[in-house]
Formats: sequence, C-alpha cells, structure tokens
Amino acid sequence: MSPVQMLLGCLLLLYLSEFLVWVRSDAWLFRRRGRGWEALTQGGLISSSRGSLHWVYPIPQLGRAYSVQTVAPPSVIHSKDIRPSIDTAFSVLDVGRRCQDVEDAFRPLRWPSWSLWGLVWVVCPLLLHFLGLQSTFWILISGALILMVTNALFLARIHSKLFSGSRDERLRLVLSASLSPLAAIRSFDLAQKQALDGFHPLAVAAALPGFRGWEELAAAEWRRLRYLVAFESSAESVTAVDAEGSQEIRAAIEELARQRGIDPTLWDSTPRAEDPAHTHYCPRCRTQFTRQATRCRDCCWPVLLPIIE
Ligand SMILES: [Zn+2]
Repeated sequence: MSPVQMLLGCLLLLYLSEFLVWVRSDAWLFRRRGRGWEALTQGGLISSSRGSLHWVYPIPQLGRAYSVQTVAPPSVIHSKDIRPSIDTAFSVLDVGRRCQDVEDAFRPLRWPSWSLWGLVWVVCPLLLHFLGLQSTFWILISGALILMVTNALFLARIHSKLFSGSRDERLRLVLSASLSPLAAIRSFDLAQKQALDGFHPLAVAAALPGFRGWEELAAAEWRRLRYLVAFESSAESVTAVDAEGSQEIRAAIEELARQRGIDPTLWDSTPRAEDPAHTHYCPRCRTQFTRQATRCRDCCWPVLLPIIE
C-alpha cells in the first residue's frame, strides 16, 4: 500500500468515526433509515448504563440524528403543573414546526459543510494524485482553514440565538469544529441533535416523515407506564403522584394513537399463546411463561396473568 493510500485510509476511518453518536440512557435516538426514520431506545454498538453508541449514515444531512429525552419522570412533576407541558410535549404540529425552524436557522452551515466534504473527498485525492503530498498539504490546509473559520462563526452565532442556555454544548461543538475539518463537516447535523428535546419521543416519532414501527413503540411505552415498577421511580415505591403523572402521559399517548387510527385498548389485551406450554404472560413486557413461573424474569413485574384461549 502506498503512503497516499494509507493516508486516505486513515482519513476515511477518522471520517467514519465522526458519524457515531452517543445517546444517554434516558433518551431516544432518532436516525434516518432508508427513506424514513427509526427510533432506537436500546442496543447500539457499545452500551452501558450511562448510554449507548450508534452509527448514522456517513453523509452530511443523511447523518442527522435527534436525541430526545423522555419527559420528566412523573415523580418529579405535580399533576397540576403537568397539563400544559403534556399538551406541548405531545403536539405533533409543534414538533414539525420546531424541526423545520431549526433546520432553516442552521441552513447557512450547509455550504461550508458540503465544501469541506468536497475538499476532503474530491479535491484532496485529485491533488494527491497530480501534485504529490507536499503541495496538496498546503492547498488543503489553507482551504480547510477558511471554511472551518466560516463554519465556526456561523455555528456559534446561530447556536447562541437558538439555544442560548446550552453554553457547554456550544463550546464543545465550536471547539471540535474549529480543530478538525472532519468534525466541521458534521456541524450542520450535530448542532440540531438536541433540537427536539422537550417533546415526547412518541410525538417526535409521529412527526418525522416515513417513521416505521410507531405502534410497537407506543404500546411498549404505554405498558411501561401502566405497569410502573418501583425501581424506575425515584422513591422506594411507586407513589400516588407517579401513578397520576403516568396516567396523564398514557392518556396523551392514547389520544395520539387514536389520531393515527390505532385502537389503544388492544395494547392491554390478552395475547395468544406462542407455544402450547405457555400459560401465563407478563402484562408489562408481554413475555410468555410456563405454569412454573411466578414473576417476570425480563422486567421484574411481580404478577403474571393467565393466557385464556
Ligand atoms: Zn415482563
């Protein structure tokens, strides 16, 4: 392998590493899949109790991802204060509007991003082929510097206007975009990562075009709240406020389902036995069990219900 090929190979690896996204464990990641979007709530290339690492398409704009934190746990919000925030959090119209507004605001970042992409992946290989390493280096450095400075200035200005409270995030974005042309290519997309925070992930899923698997996610989330287990609550046991808060969120999920032509009453119906030996199921995660089981091994729900054929 020639030094030029090795250099391009290293560049490619560094470039691909920019398209890995870290998501906290209390957030959902929305990334592009085919022509639509998908949500990831678990799994990933690497995952721990603090979060998980996921890949996105390694092309600017297609590599956009949204990290959406779940609405504050019911135990920390009193039901009197929750109503307006629930309405806003579940407004599909507002999600769409916010998405568009943020994308429009960051639009000036698109041309430095694509220009840097062209510089690295079109101009650089051509120059390396015709001019050699030394001349290419200086042309590449001067071109990249101009574009990176422009990108960082746009990024800092627009980000402070849209997310004035996120100083640390802005500093991190601007610093990385100023230090590496590969990170600067990602600025346009990464700056929008937190754009939909504050909305409920299911409202985000409903608003993103071509989203697949909304009903499965909604049903799982609805059941998680319906059968809230003590260890998910901040208190030792599930308090009355928890139950009331989760009921409000469930009602909003049901309303959203009905708007989409889905009957939410089916989410709690008894499933068919997947195996003749299965006699009981967990109402929370729908795992089926034989007669010997007394509690759900998967989600720790303490009461199994009978499967009635
Ligand atoms: Zn279970």
